[in-house]
Amino acid sequence: MEFFIDVILPVPLERLFTYSITRAESEFLKAGMRVAVPFGKSKIYTALVYGIHQTKPEVYEAKPIHQILDEHPIITKHQIKLWDWISKYYICTHGDVLRAALPSAFLLESETIISKTDLELADDSQLKDDEFLVYEALYHQSALKVQEISNILDKKNVLPVLKRLLDKEVIKIDEEIYEKYRPKLVRYVKLNATYQSDSALETLLNKLSRAPKQRDIILTFFSLSAATTKPIKVSELIEKSKSTTTQIKVLIEKEILEAFHIQTDRVSYSGGQTDALKQLNEHQLLALENIKNVFKTQKVCLLHGVTSSGKTEIYVKLIAEALEKGQQILYLVPEIALTTQLVSRLQHYFGAKVSVFHSKYSLNERVEVWHNVLENSDKAQIILGARSSVFLPFNNLGLVIVDEEHEQSYKQFDPAPRYHARDTAIVLANLHGAHTLLGSATPSVESFFNATMEHKYGFVALSRRYNDVMLPEIELIDIKDKHKRKRMKGHFSDRLIEEMTEALENNYQIILFQNRRGYSPIVECNTCGHSPQCPNCDVSLTYHQYKKQLRCHYCGYHMSMLISCMACGSTDMDSKGFGTEQVEKEVNLLFPEAKVARMDLDTTRGKHGYERIITAFEQQEVDILVGTQMLTKGLDFRNVKLVGIMNADNMLNFPDFRAHERSYQLMQQVAGRAGRTKERGKVLIQTYNPYHKILQQVSNNDYAGMFKEQLDERYNFKYPPIYRLIKITLKHQDYNKVNEGAEWLATALRQVFKQHVLGPEFPPVSRIRNQYHKNILLKIPQNQSLGKTKEAILKIKNSFSSVKNFRPIRVILNIDNY
Ligand code: ADP
Ligand code: ZN
Ligand code: ZN
Repeated sequence: MEFFIDVILPVPLERLFTYSITRAESEFLKAGMRVAVPFGKSKIYTALVYGIHQTKPEVYEAKPIHQILDEHPIITKHQIKLWDWISKYYICTHGDVLRAALPSAFLLESETIISKTDLELADDSQLKDDEFLVYEALYHQSALKVQEISNILDKKNVLPVLKRLLDKEVIKIDEEIYEKYRPKLVRYVKLNATYQSDSALETLLNKLSRAPKQRDIILTFFSLSAATTKPIKVSELIEKSKSTTTQIKVLIEKEILEAFHIQTDRVSYSGGQTDALKQLNEHQLLALENIKNVFKTQKVCLLHGVTSSGKTEIYVKLIAEALEKGQQILYLVPEIALTTQLVSRLQHYFGAKVSVFHSKYSLNERVEVWHNVLENSDKAQIILGARSSVFLPFNNLGLVIVDEEHEQSYKQFDPAPRYHARDTAIVLANLHGAHTLLGSATPSVESFFNATMEHKYGFVALSRRYNDVMLPEIELIDIKDKHKRKRMKGHFSDRLIEEMTEALENNYQIILFQNRRGYSPIVECNTCGHSPQCPNCDVSLTYHQYKKQLRCHYCGYHMSMLISCMACGSTDMDSKGFGTEQVEKEVNLLFPEAKVARMDLDTTRGKHGYERIITAFEQQEVDILVGTQMLTKGLDFRNVKLVGIMNADNMLNFPDFRAHERSYQLMQQVAGRAGRTKERGKVLIQTYNPYHKILQQVSNNDYAGMFKEQLDERYNFKYPPIYRLIKITLKHQDYNKVNEGAEWLATALRQVFKQHVLGPEFPPVSRIRNQYHKNILLKIPQNQSLGKTKEAILKIKNSFSSVKNFRPIRVILNIDNY
């Protein structure tokens, strides 16, 4: 009898590939183990066993495997089922999923680049002969390809050797390492409470008459406090009183001064005591109870809780209950870089049970978390992670939380699998019989539809902010009118300036939101009308004043700012529109005393760019924060009173069927950063269209109205969630080829899908990095079989690729396009 295995190879093959194995191997191997197999002429890959059987492949001779790499499966049965679903739903190959799912250390192949770690071996005898040869080779050459190592060892299959070296941490796979950021804590001082009264103070100063330097410091402290109501920094006091750290320390030890940090809960968990959970208020308790009731009959629940209603504390209670049952918990967040606040909050409650998983973490950390999850170890009971953590090998998952479920960043754009982590997480939870809680202050139209109309999910609302702080008051400002009446200074209306002045006087912080970075998006010649374009993309170059550059936001192309027009030579150049850089500049002119910071892609590029800015703002070293939508993602600032939205119109006019929904979410989320503690916050929205429906809905907190209207539109125009949307993008550098190919493909699709095919059409930016893009949209009724749809599309795609002229065109399928 002959034995075979079907394996998933980490390459985009439509089918599984079959290899022959011996009887003994067939008894040992299980689905989910890795094997090293030959593929193509000379390559060796790590492949994953999918199934074991006795059916010989018909069209090719099955080759024997090289070697078995695992003693136990590293992938669970649930995971393989999840991969099956992903490849079917998102129309991609199992190989695509494998690549996305496994840390690359698990997938050694001929092209992988290997280098030495810093580990110094005390004693070479720890290594076997072949291991030592690799170790030595890496001493002479800093990096080697697996293929090259294979030549050195004169051995075709070196993956087992490399795996052993990886396990011993002697070698590593080249990848960027992501270091954890430790925020710098600023120290402040205040006067001890016992000296607050005038008489006590007088006694103190008299007492200090024999310690003139200390007396001097206290007096300086007073003159500083008189000038501001802000807390006084230790560093500032030292500078102004010309003293030293030691002198201040003495005063603190004498308990005359008291030191403190503004944000003490940012200190990362160091293994100490955990805190008791917070007591929920009545509204939170009710919501929690309702969620638990939903979970009695339904697997998924949507929690619609306004910003700052205390959703996180509800999640925490549910997590605690799942932990008690010994279950694993997956807590998904849209952007891990922005969640230091959340990590420490969870660690304070659950200590070392929390693990963070992120594709930017070092390989070792990821492999470690992987094993911890697989073994259901105590260290990885709660996984806090971005979208790729849906691929972890859970074996006892009890609860999935998807926070900010409306966020676009849950969808992977490129490369395949182009999956949506929220929807994938629901499928994952179902495979485990686990519950899923989706949470948001501004749910996606899809989820709200699924919950309140289709009743696919349960629904719970929480409409009070914690502490009963009112939602911010939202005022719309008609800047067309302001311009007419000359009430604008640059891009600031008189109302915005008034409110900013007042907030600053009362020592509150301010957030200014502008959805464009750079100084101004278009530079135009006043003489001939020419505006400089990117040579690689069909977009105007954005002016970045700080660097005196024109930059393309699609491909990164840049040139120095023009002195005269490239077309006619005129020096009369003008800029149109404005970005965060210009806002920052104008604020500096309007409020020269205020400290201003900017948070956008340009200022957060460094490793810890985000966190540095967030920390500075939290610690009130910054008065005004100017930023793009990065500002919206669930940040909890305590002292923000005012939010200004500089211009609402460019979001609203974006050519996309989700533009209105998105604008609503974005504005509500930015608005939600205001007034989170005691006093009601205020939001000013500047716009040319104050009567725009979305703006009215934003200012009335009318989520229901927004939802109803958007849903009507989706019905009328056959968009999600009523129809499923498949976007097919063709890419090639030859304009005519893309055009011809797109026509051919659309015609072929129309024969099957009839009127549900739209296009082909060029997107608003039709050329990026010298590649022309053209889109075809397929609208698939929700009840149409997924399997059949995928089959039909793949068939057409295959005959498309068999046309010689079209073969070089890249065809990308994107399901539930976001
Ligand atoms: P959301 O996630 O809904 O925006 P959070 O969970 O961040 O809201 O809560 C907002 C603020 O209120 C946080 O600073 C949180 O610590 C505080 N808070 C929420 N619930 C409670 C509670 N039950 N007891 C004490 N503080 C709470
Ligand atoms: Zn010109
Ligand atoms: Zn470009």
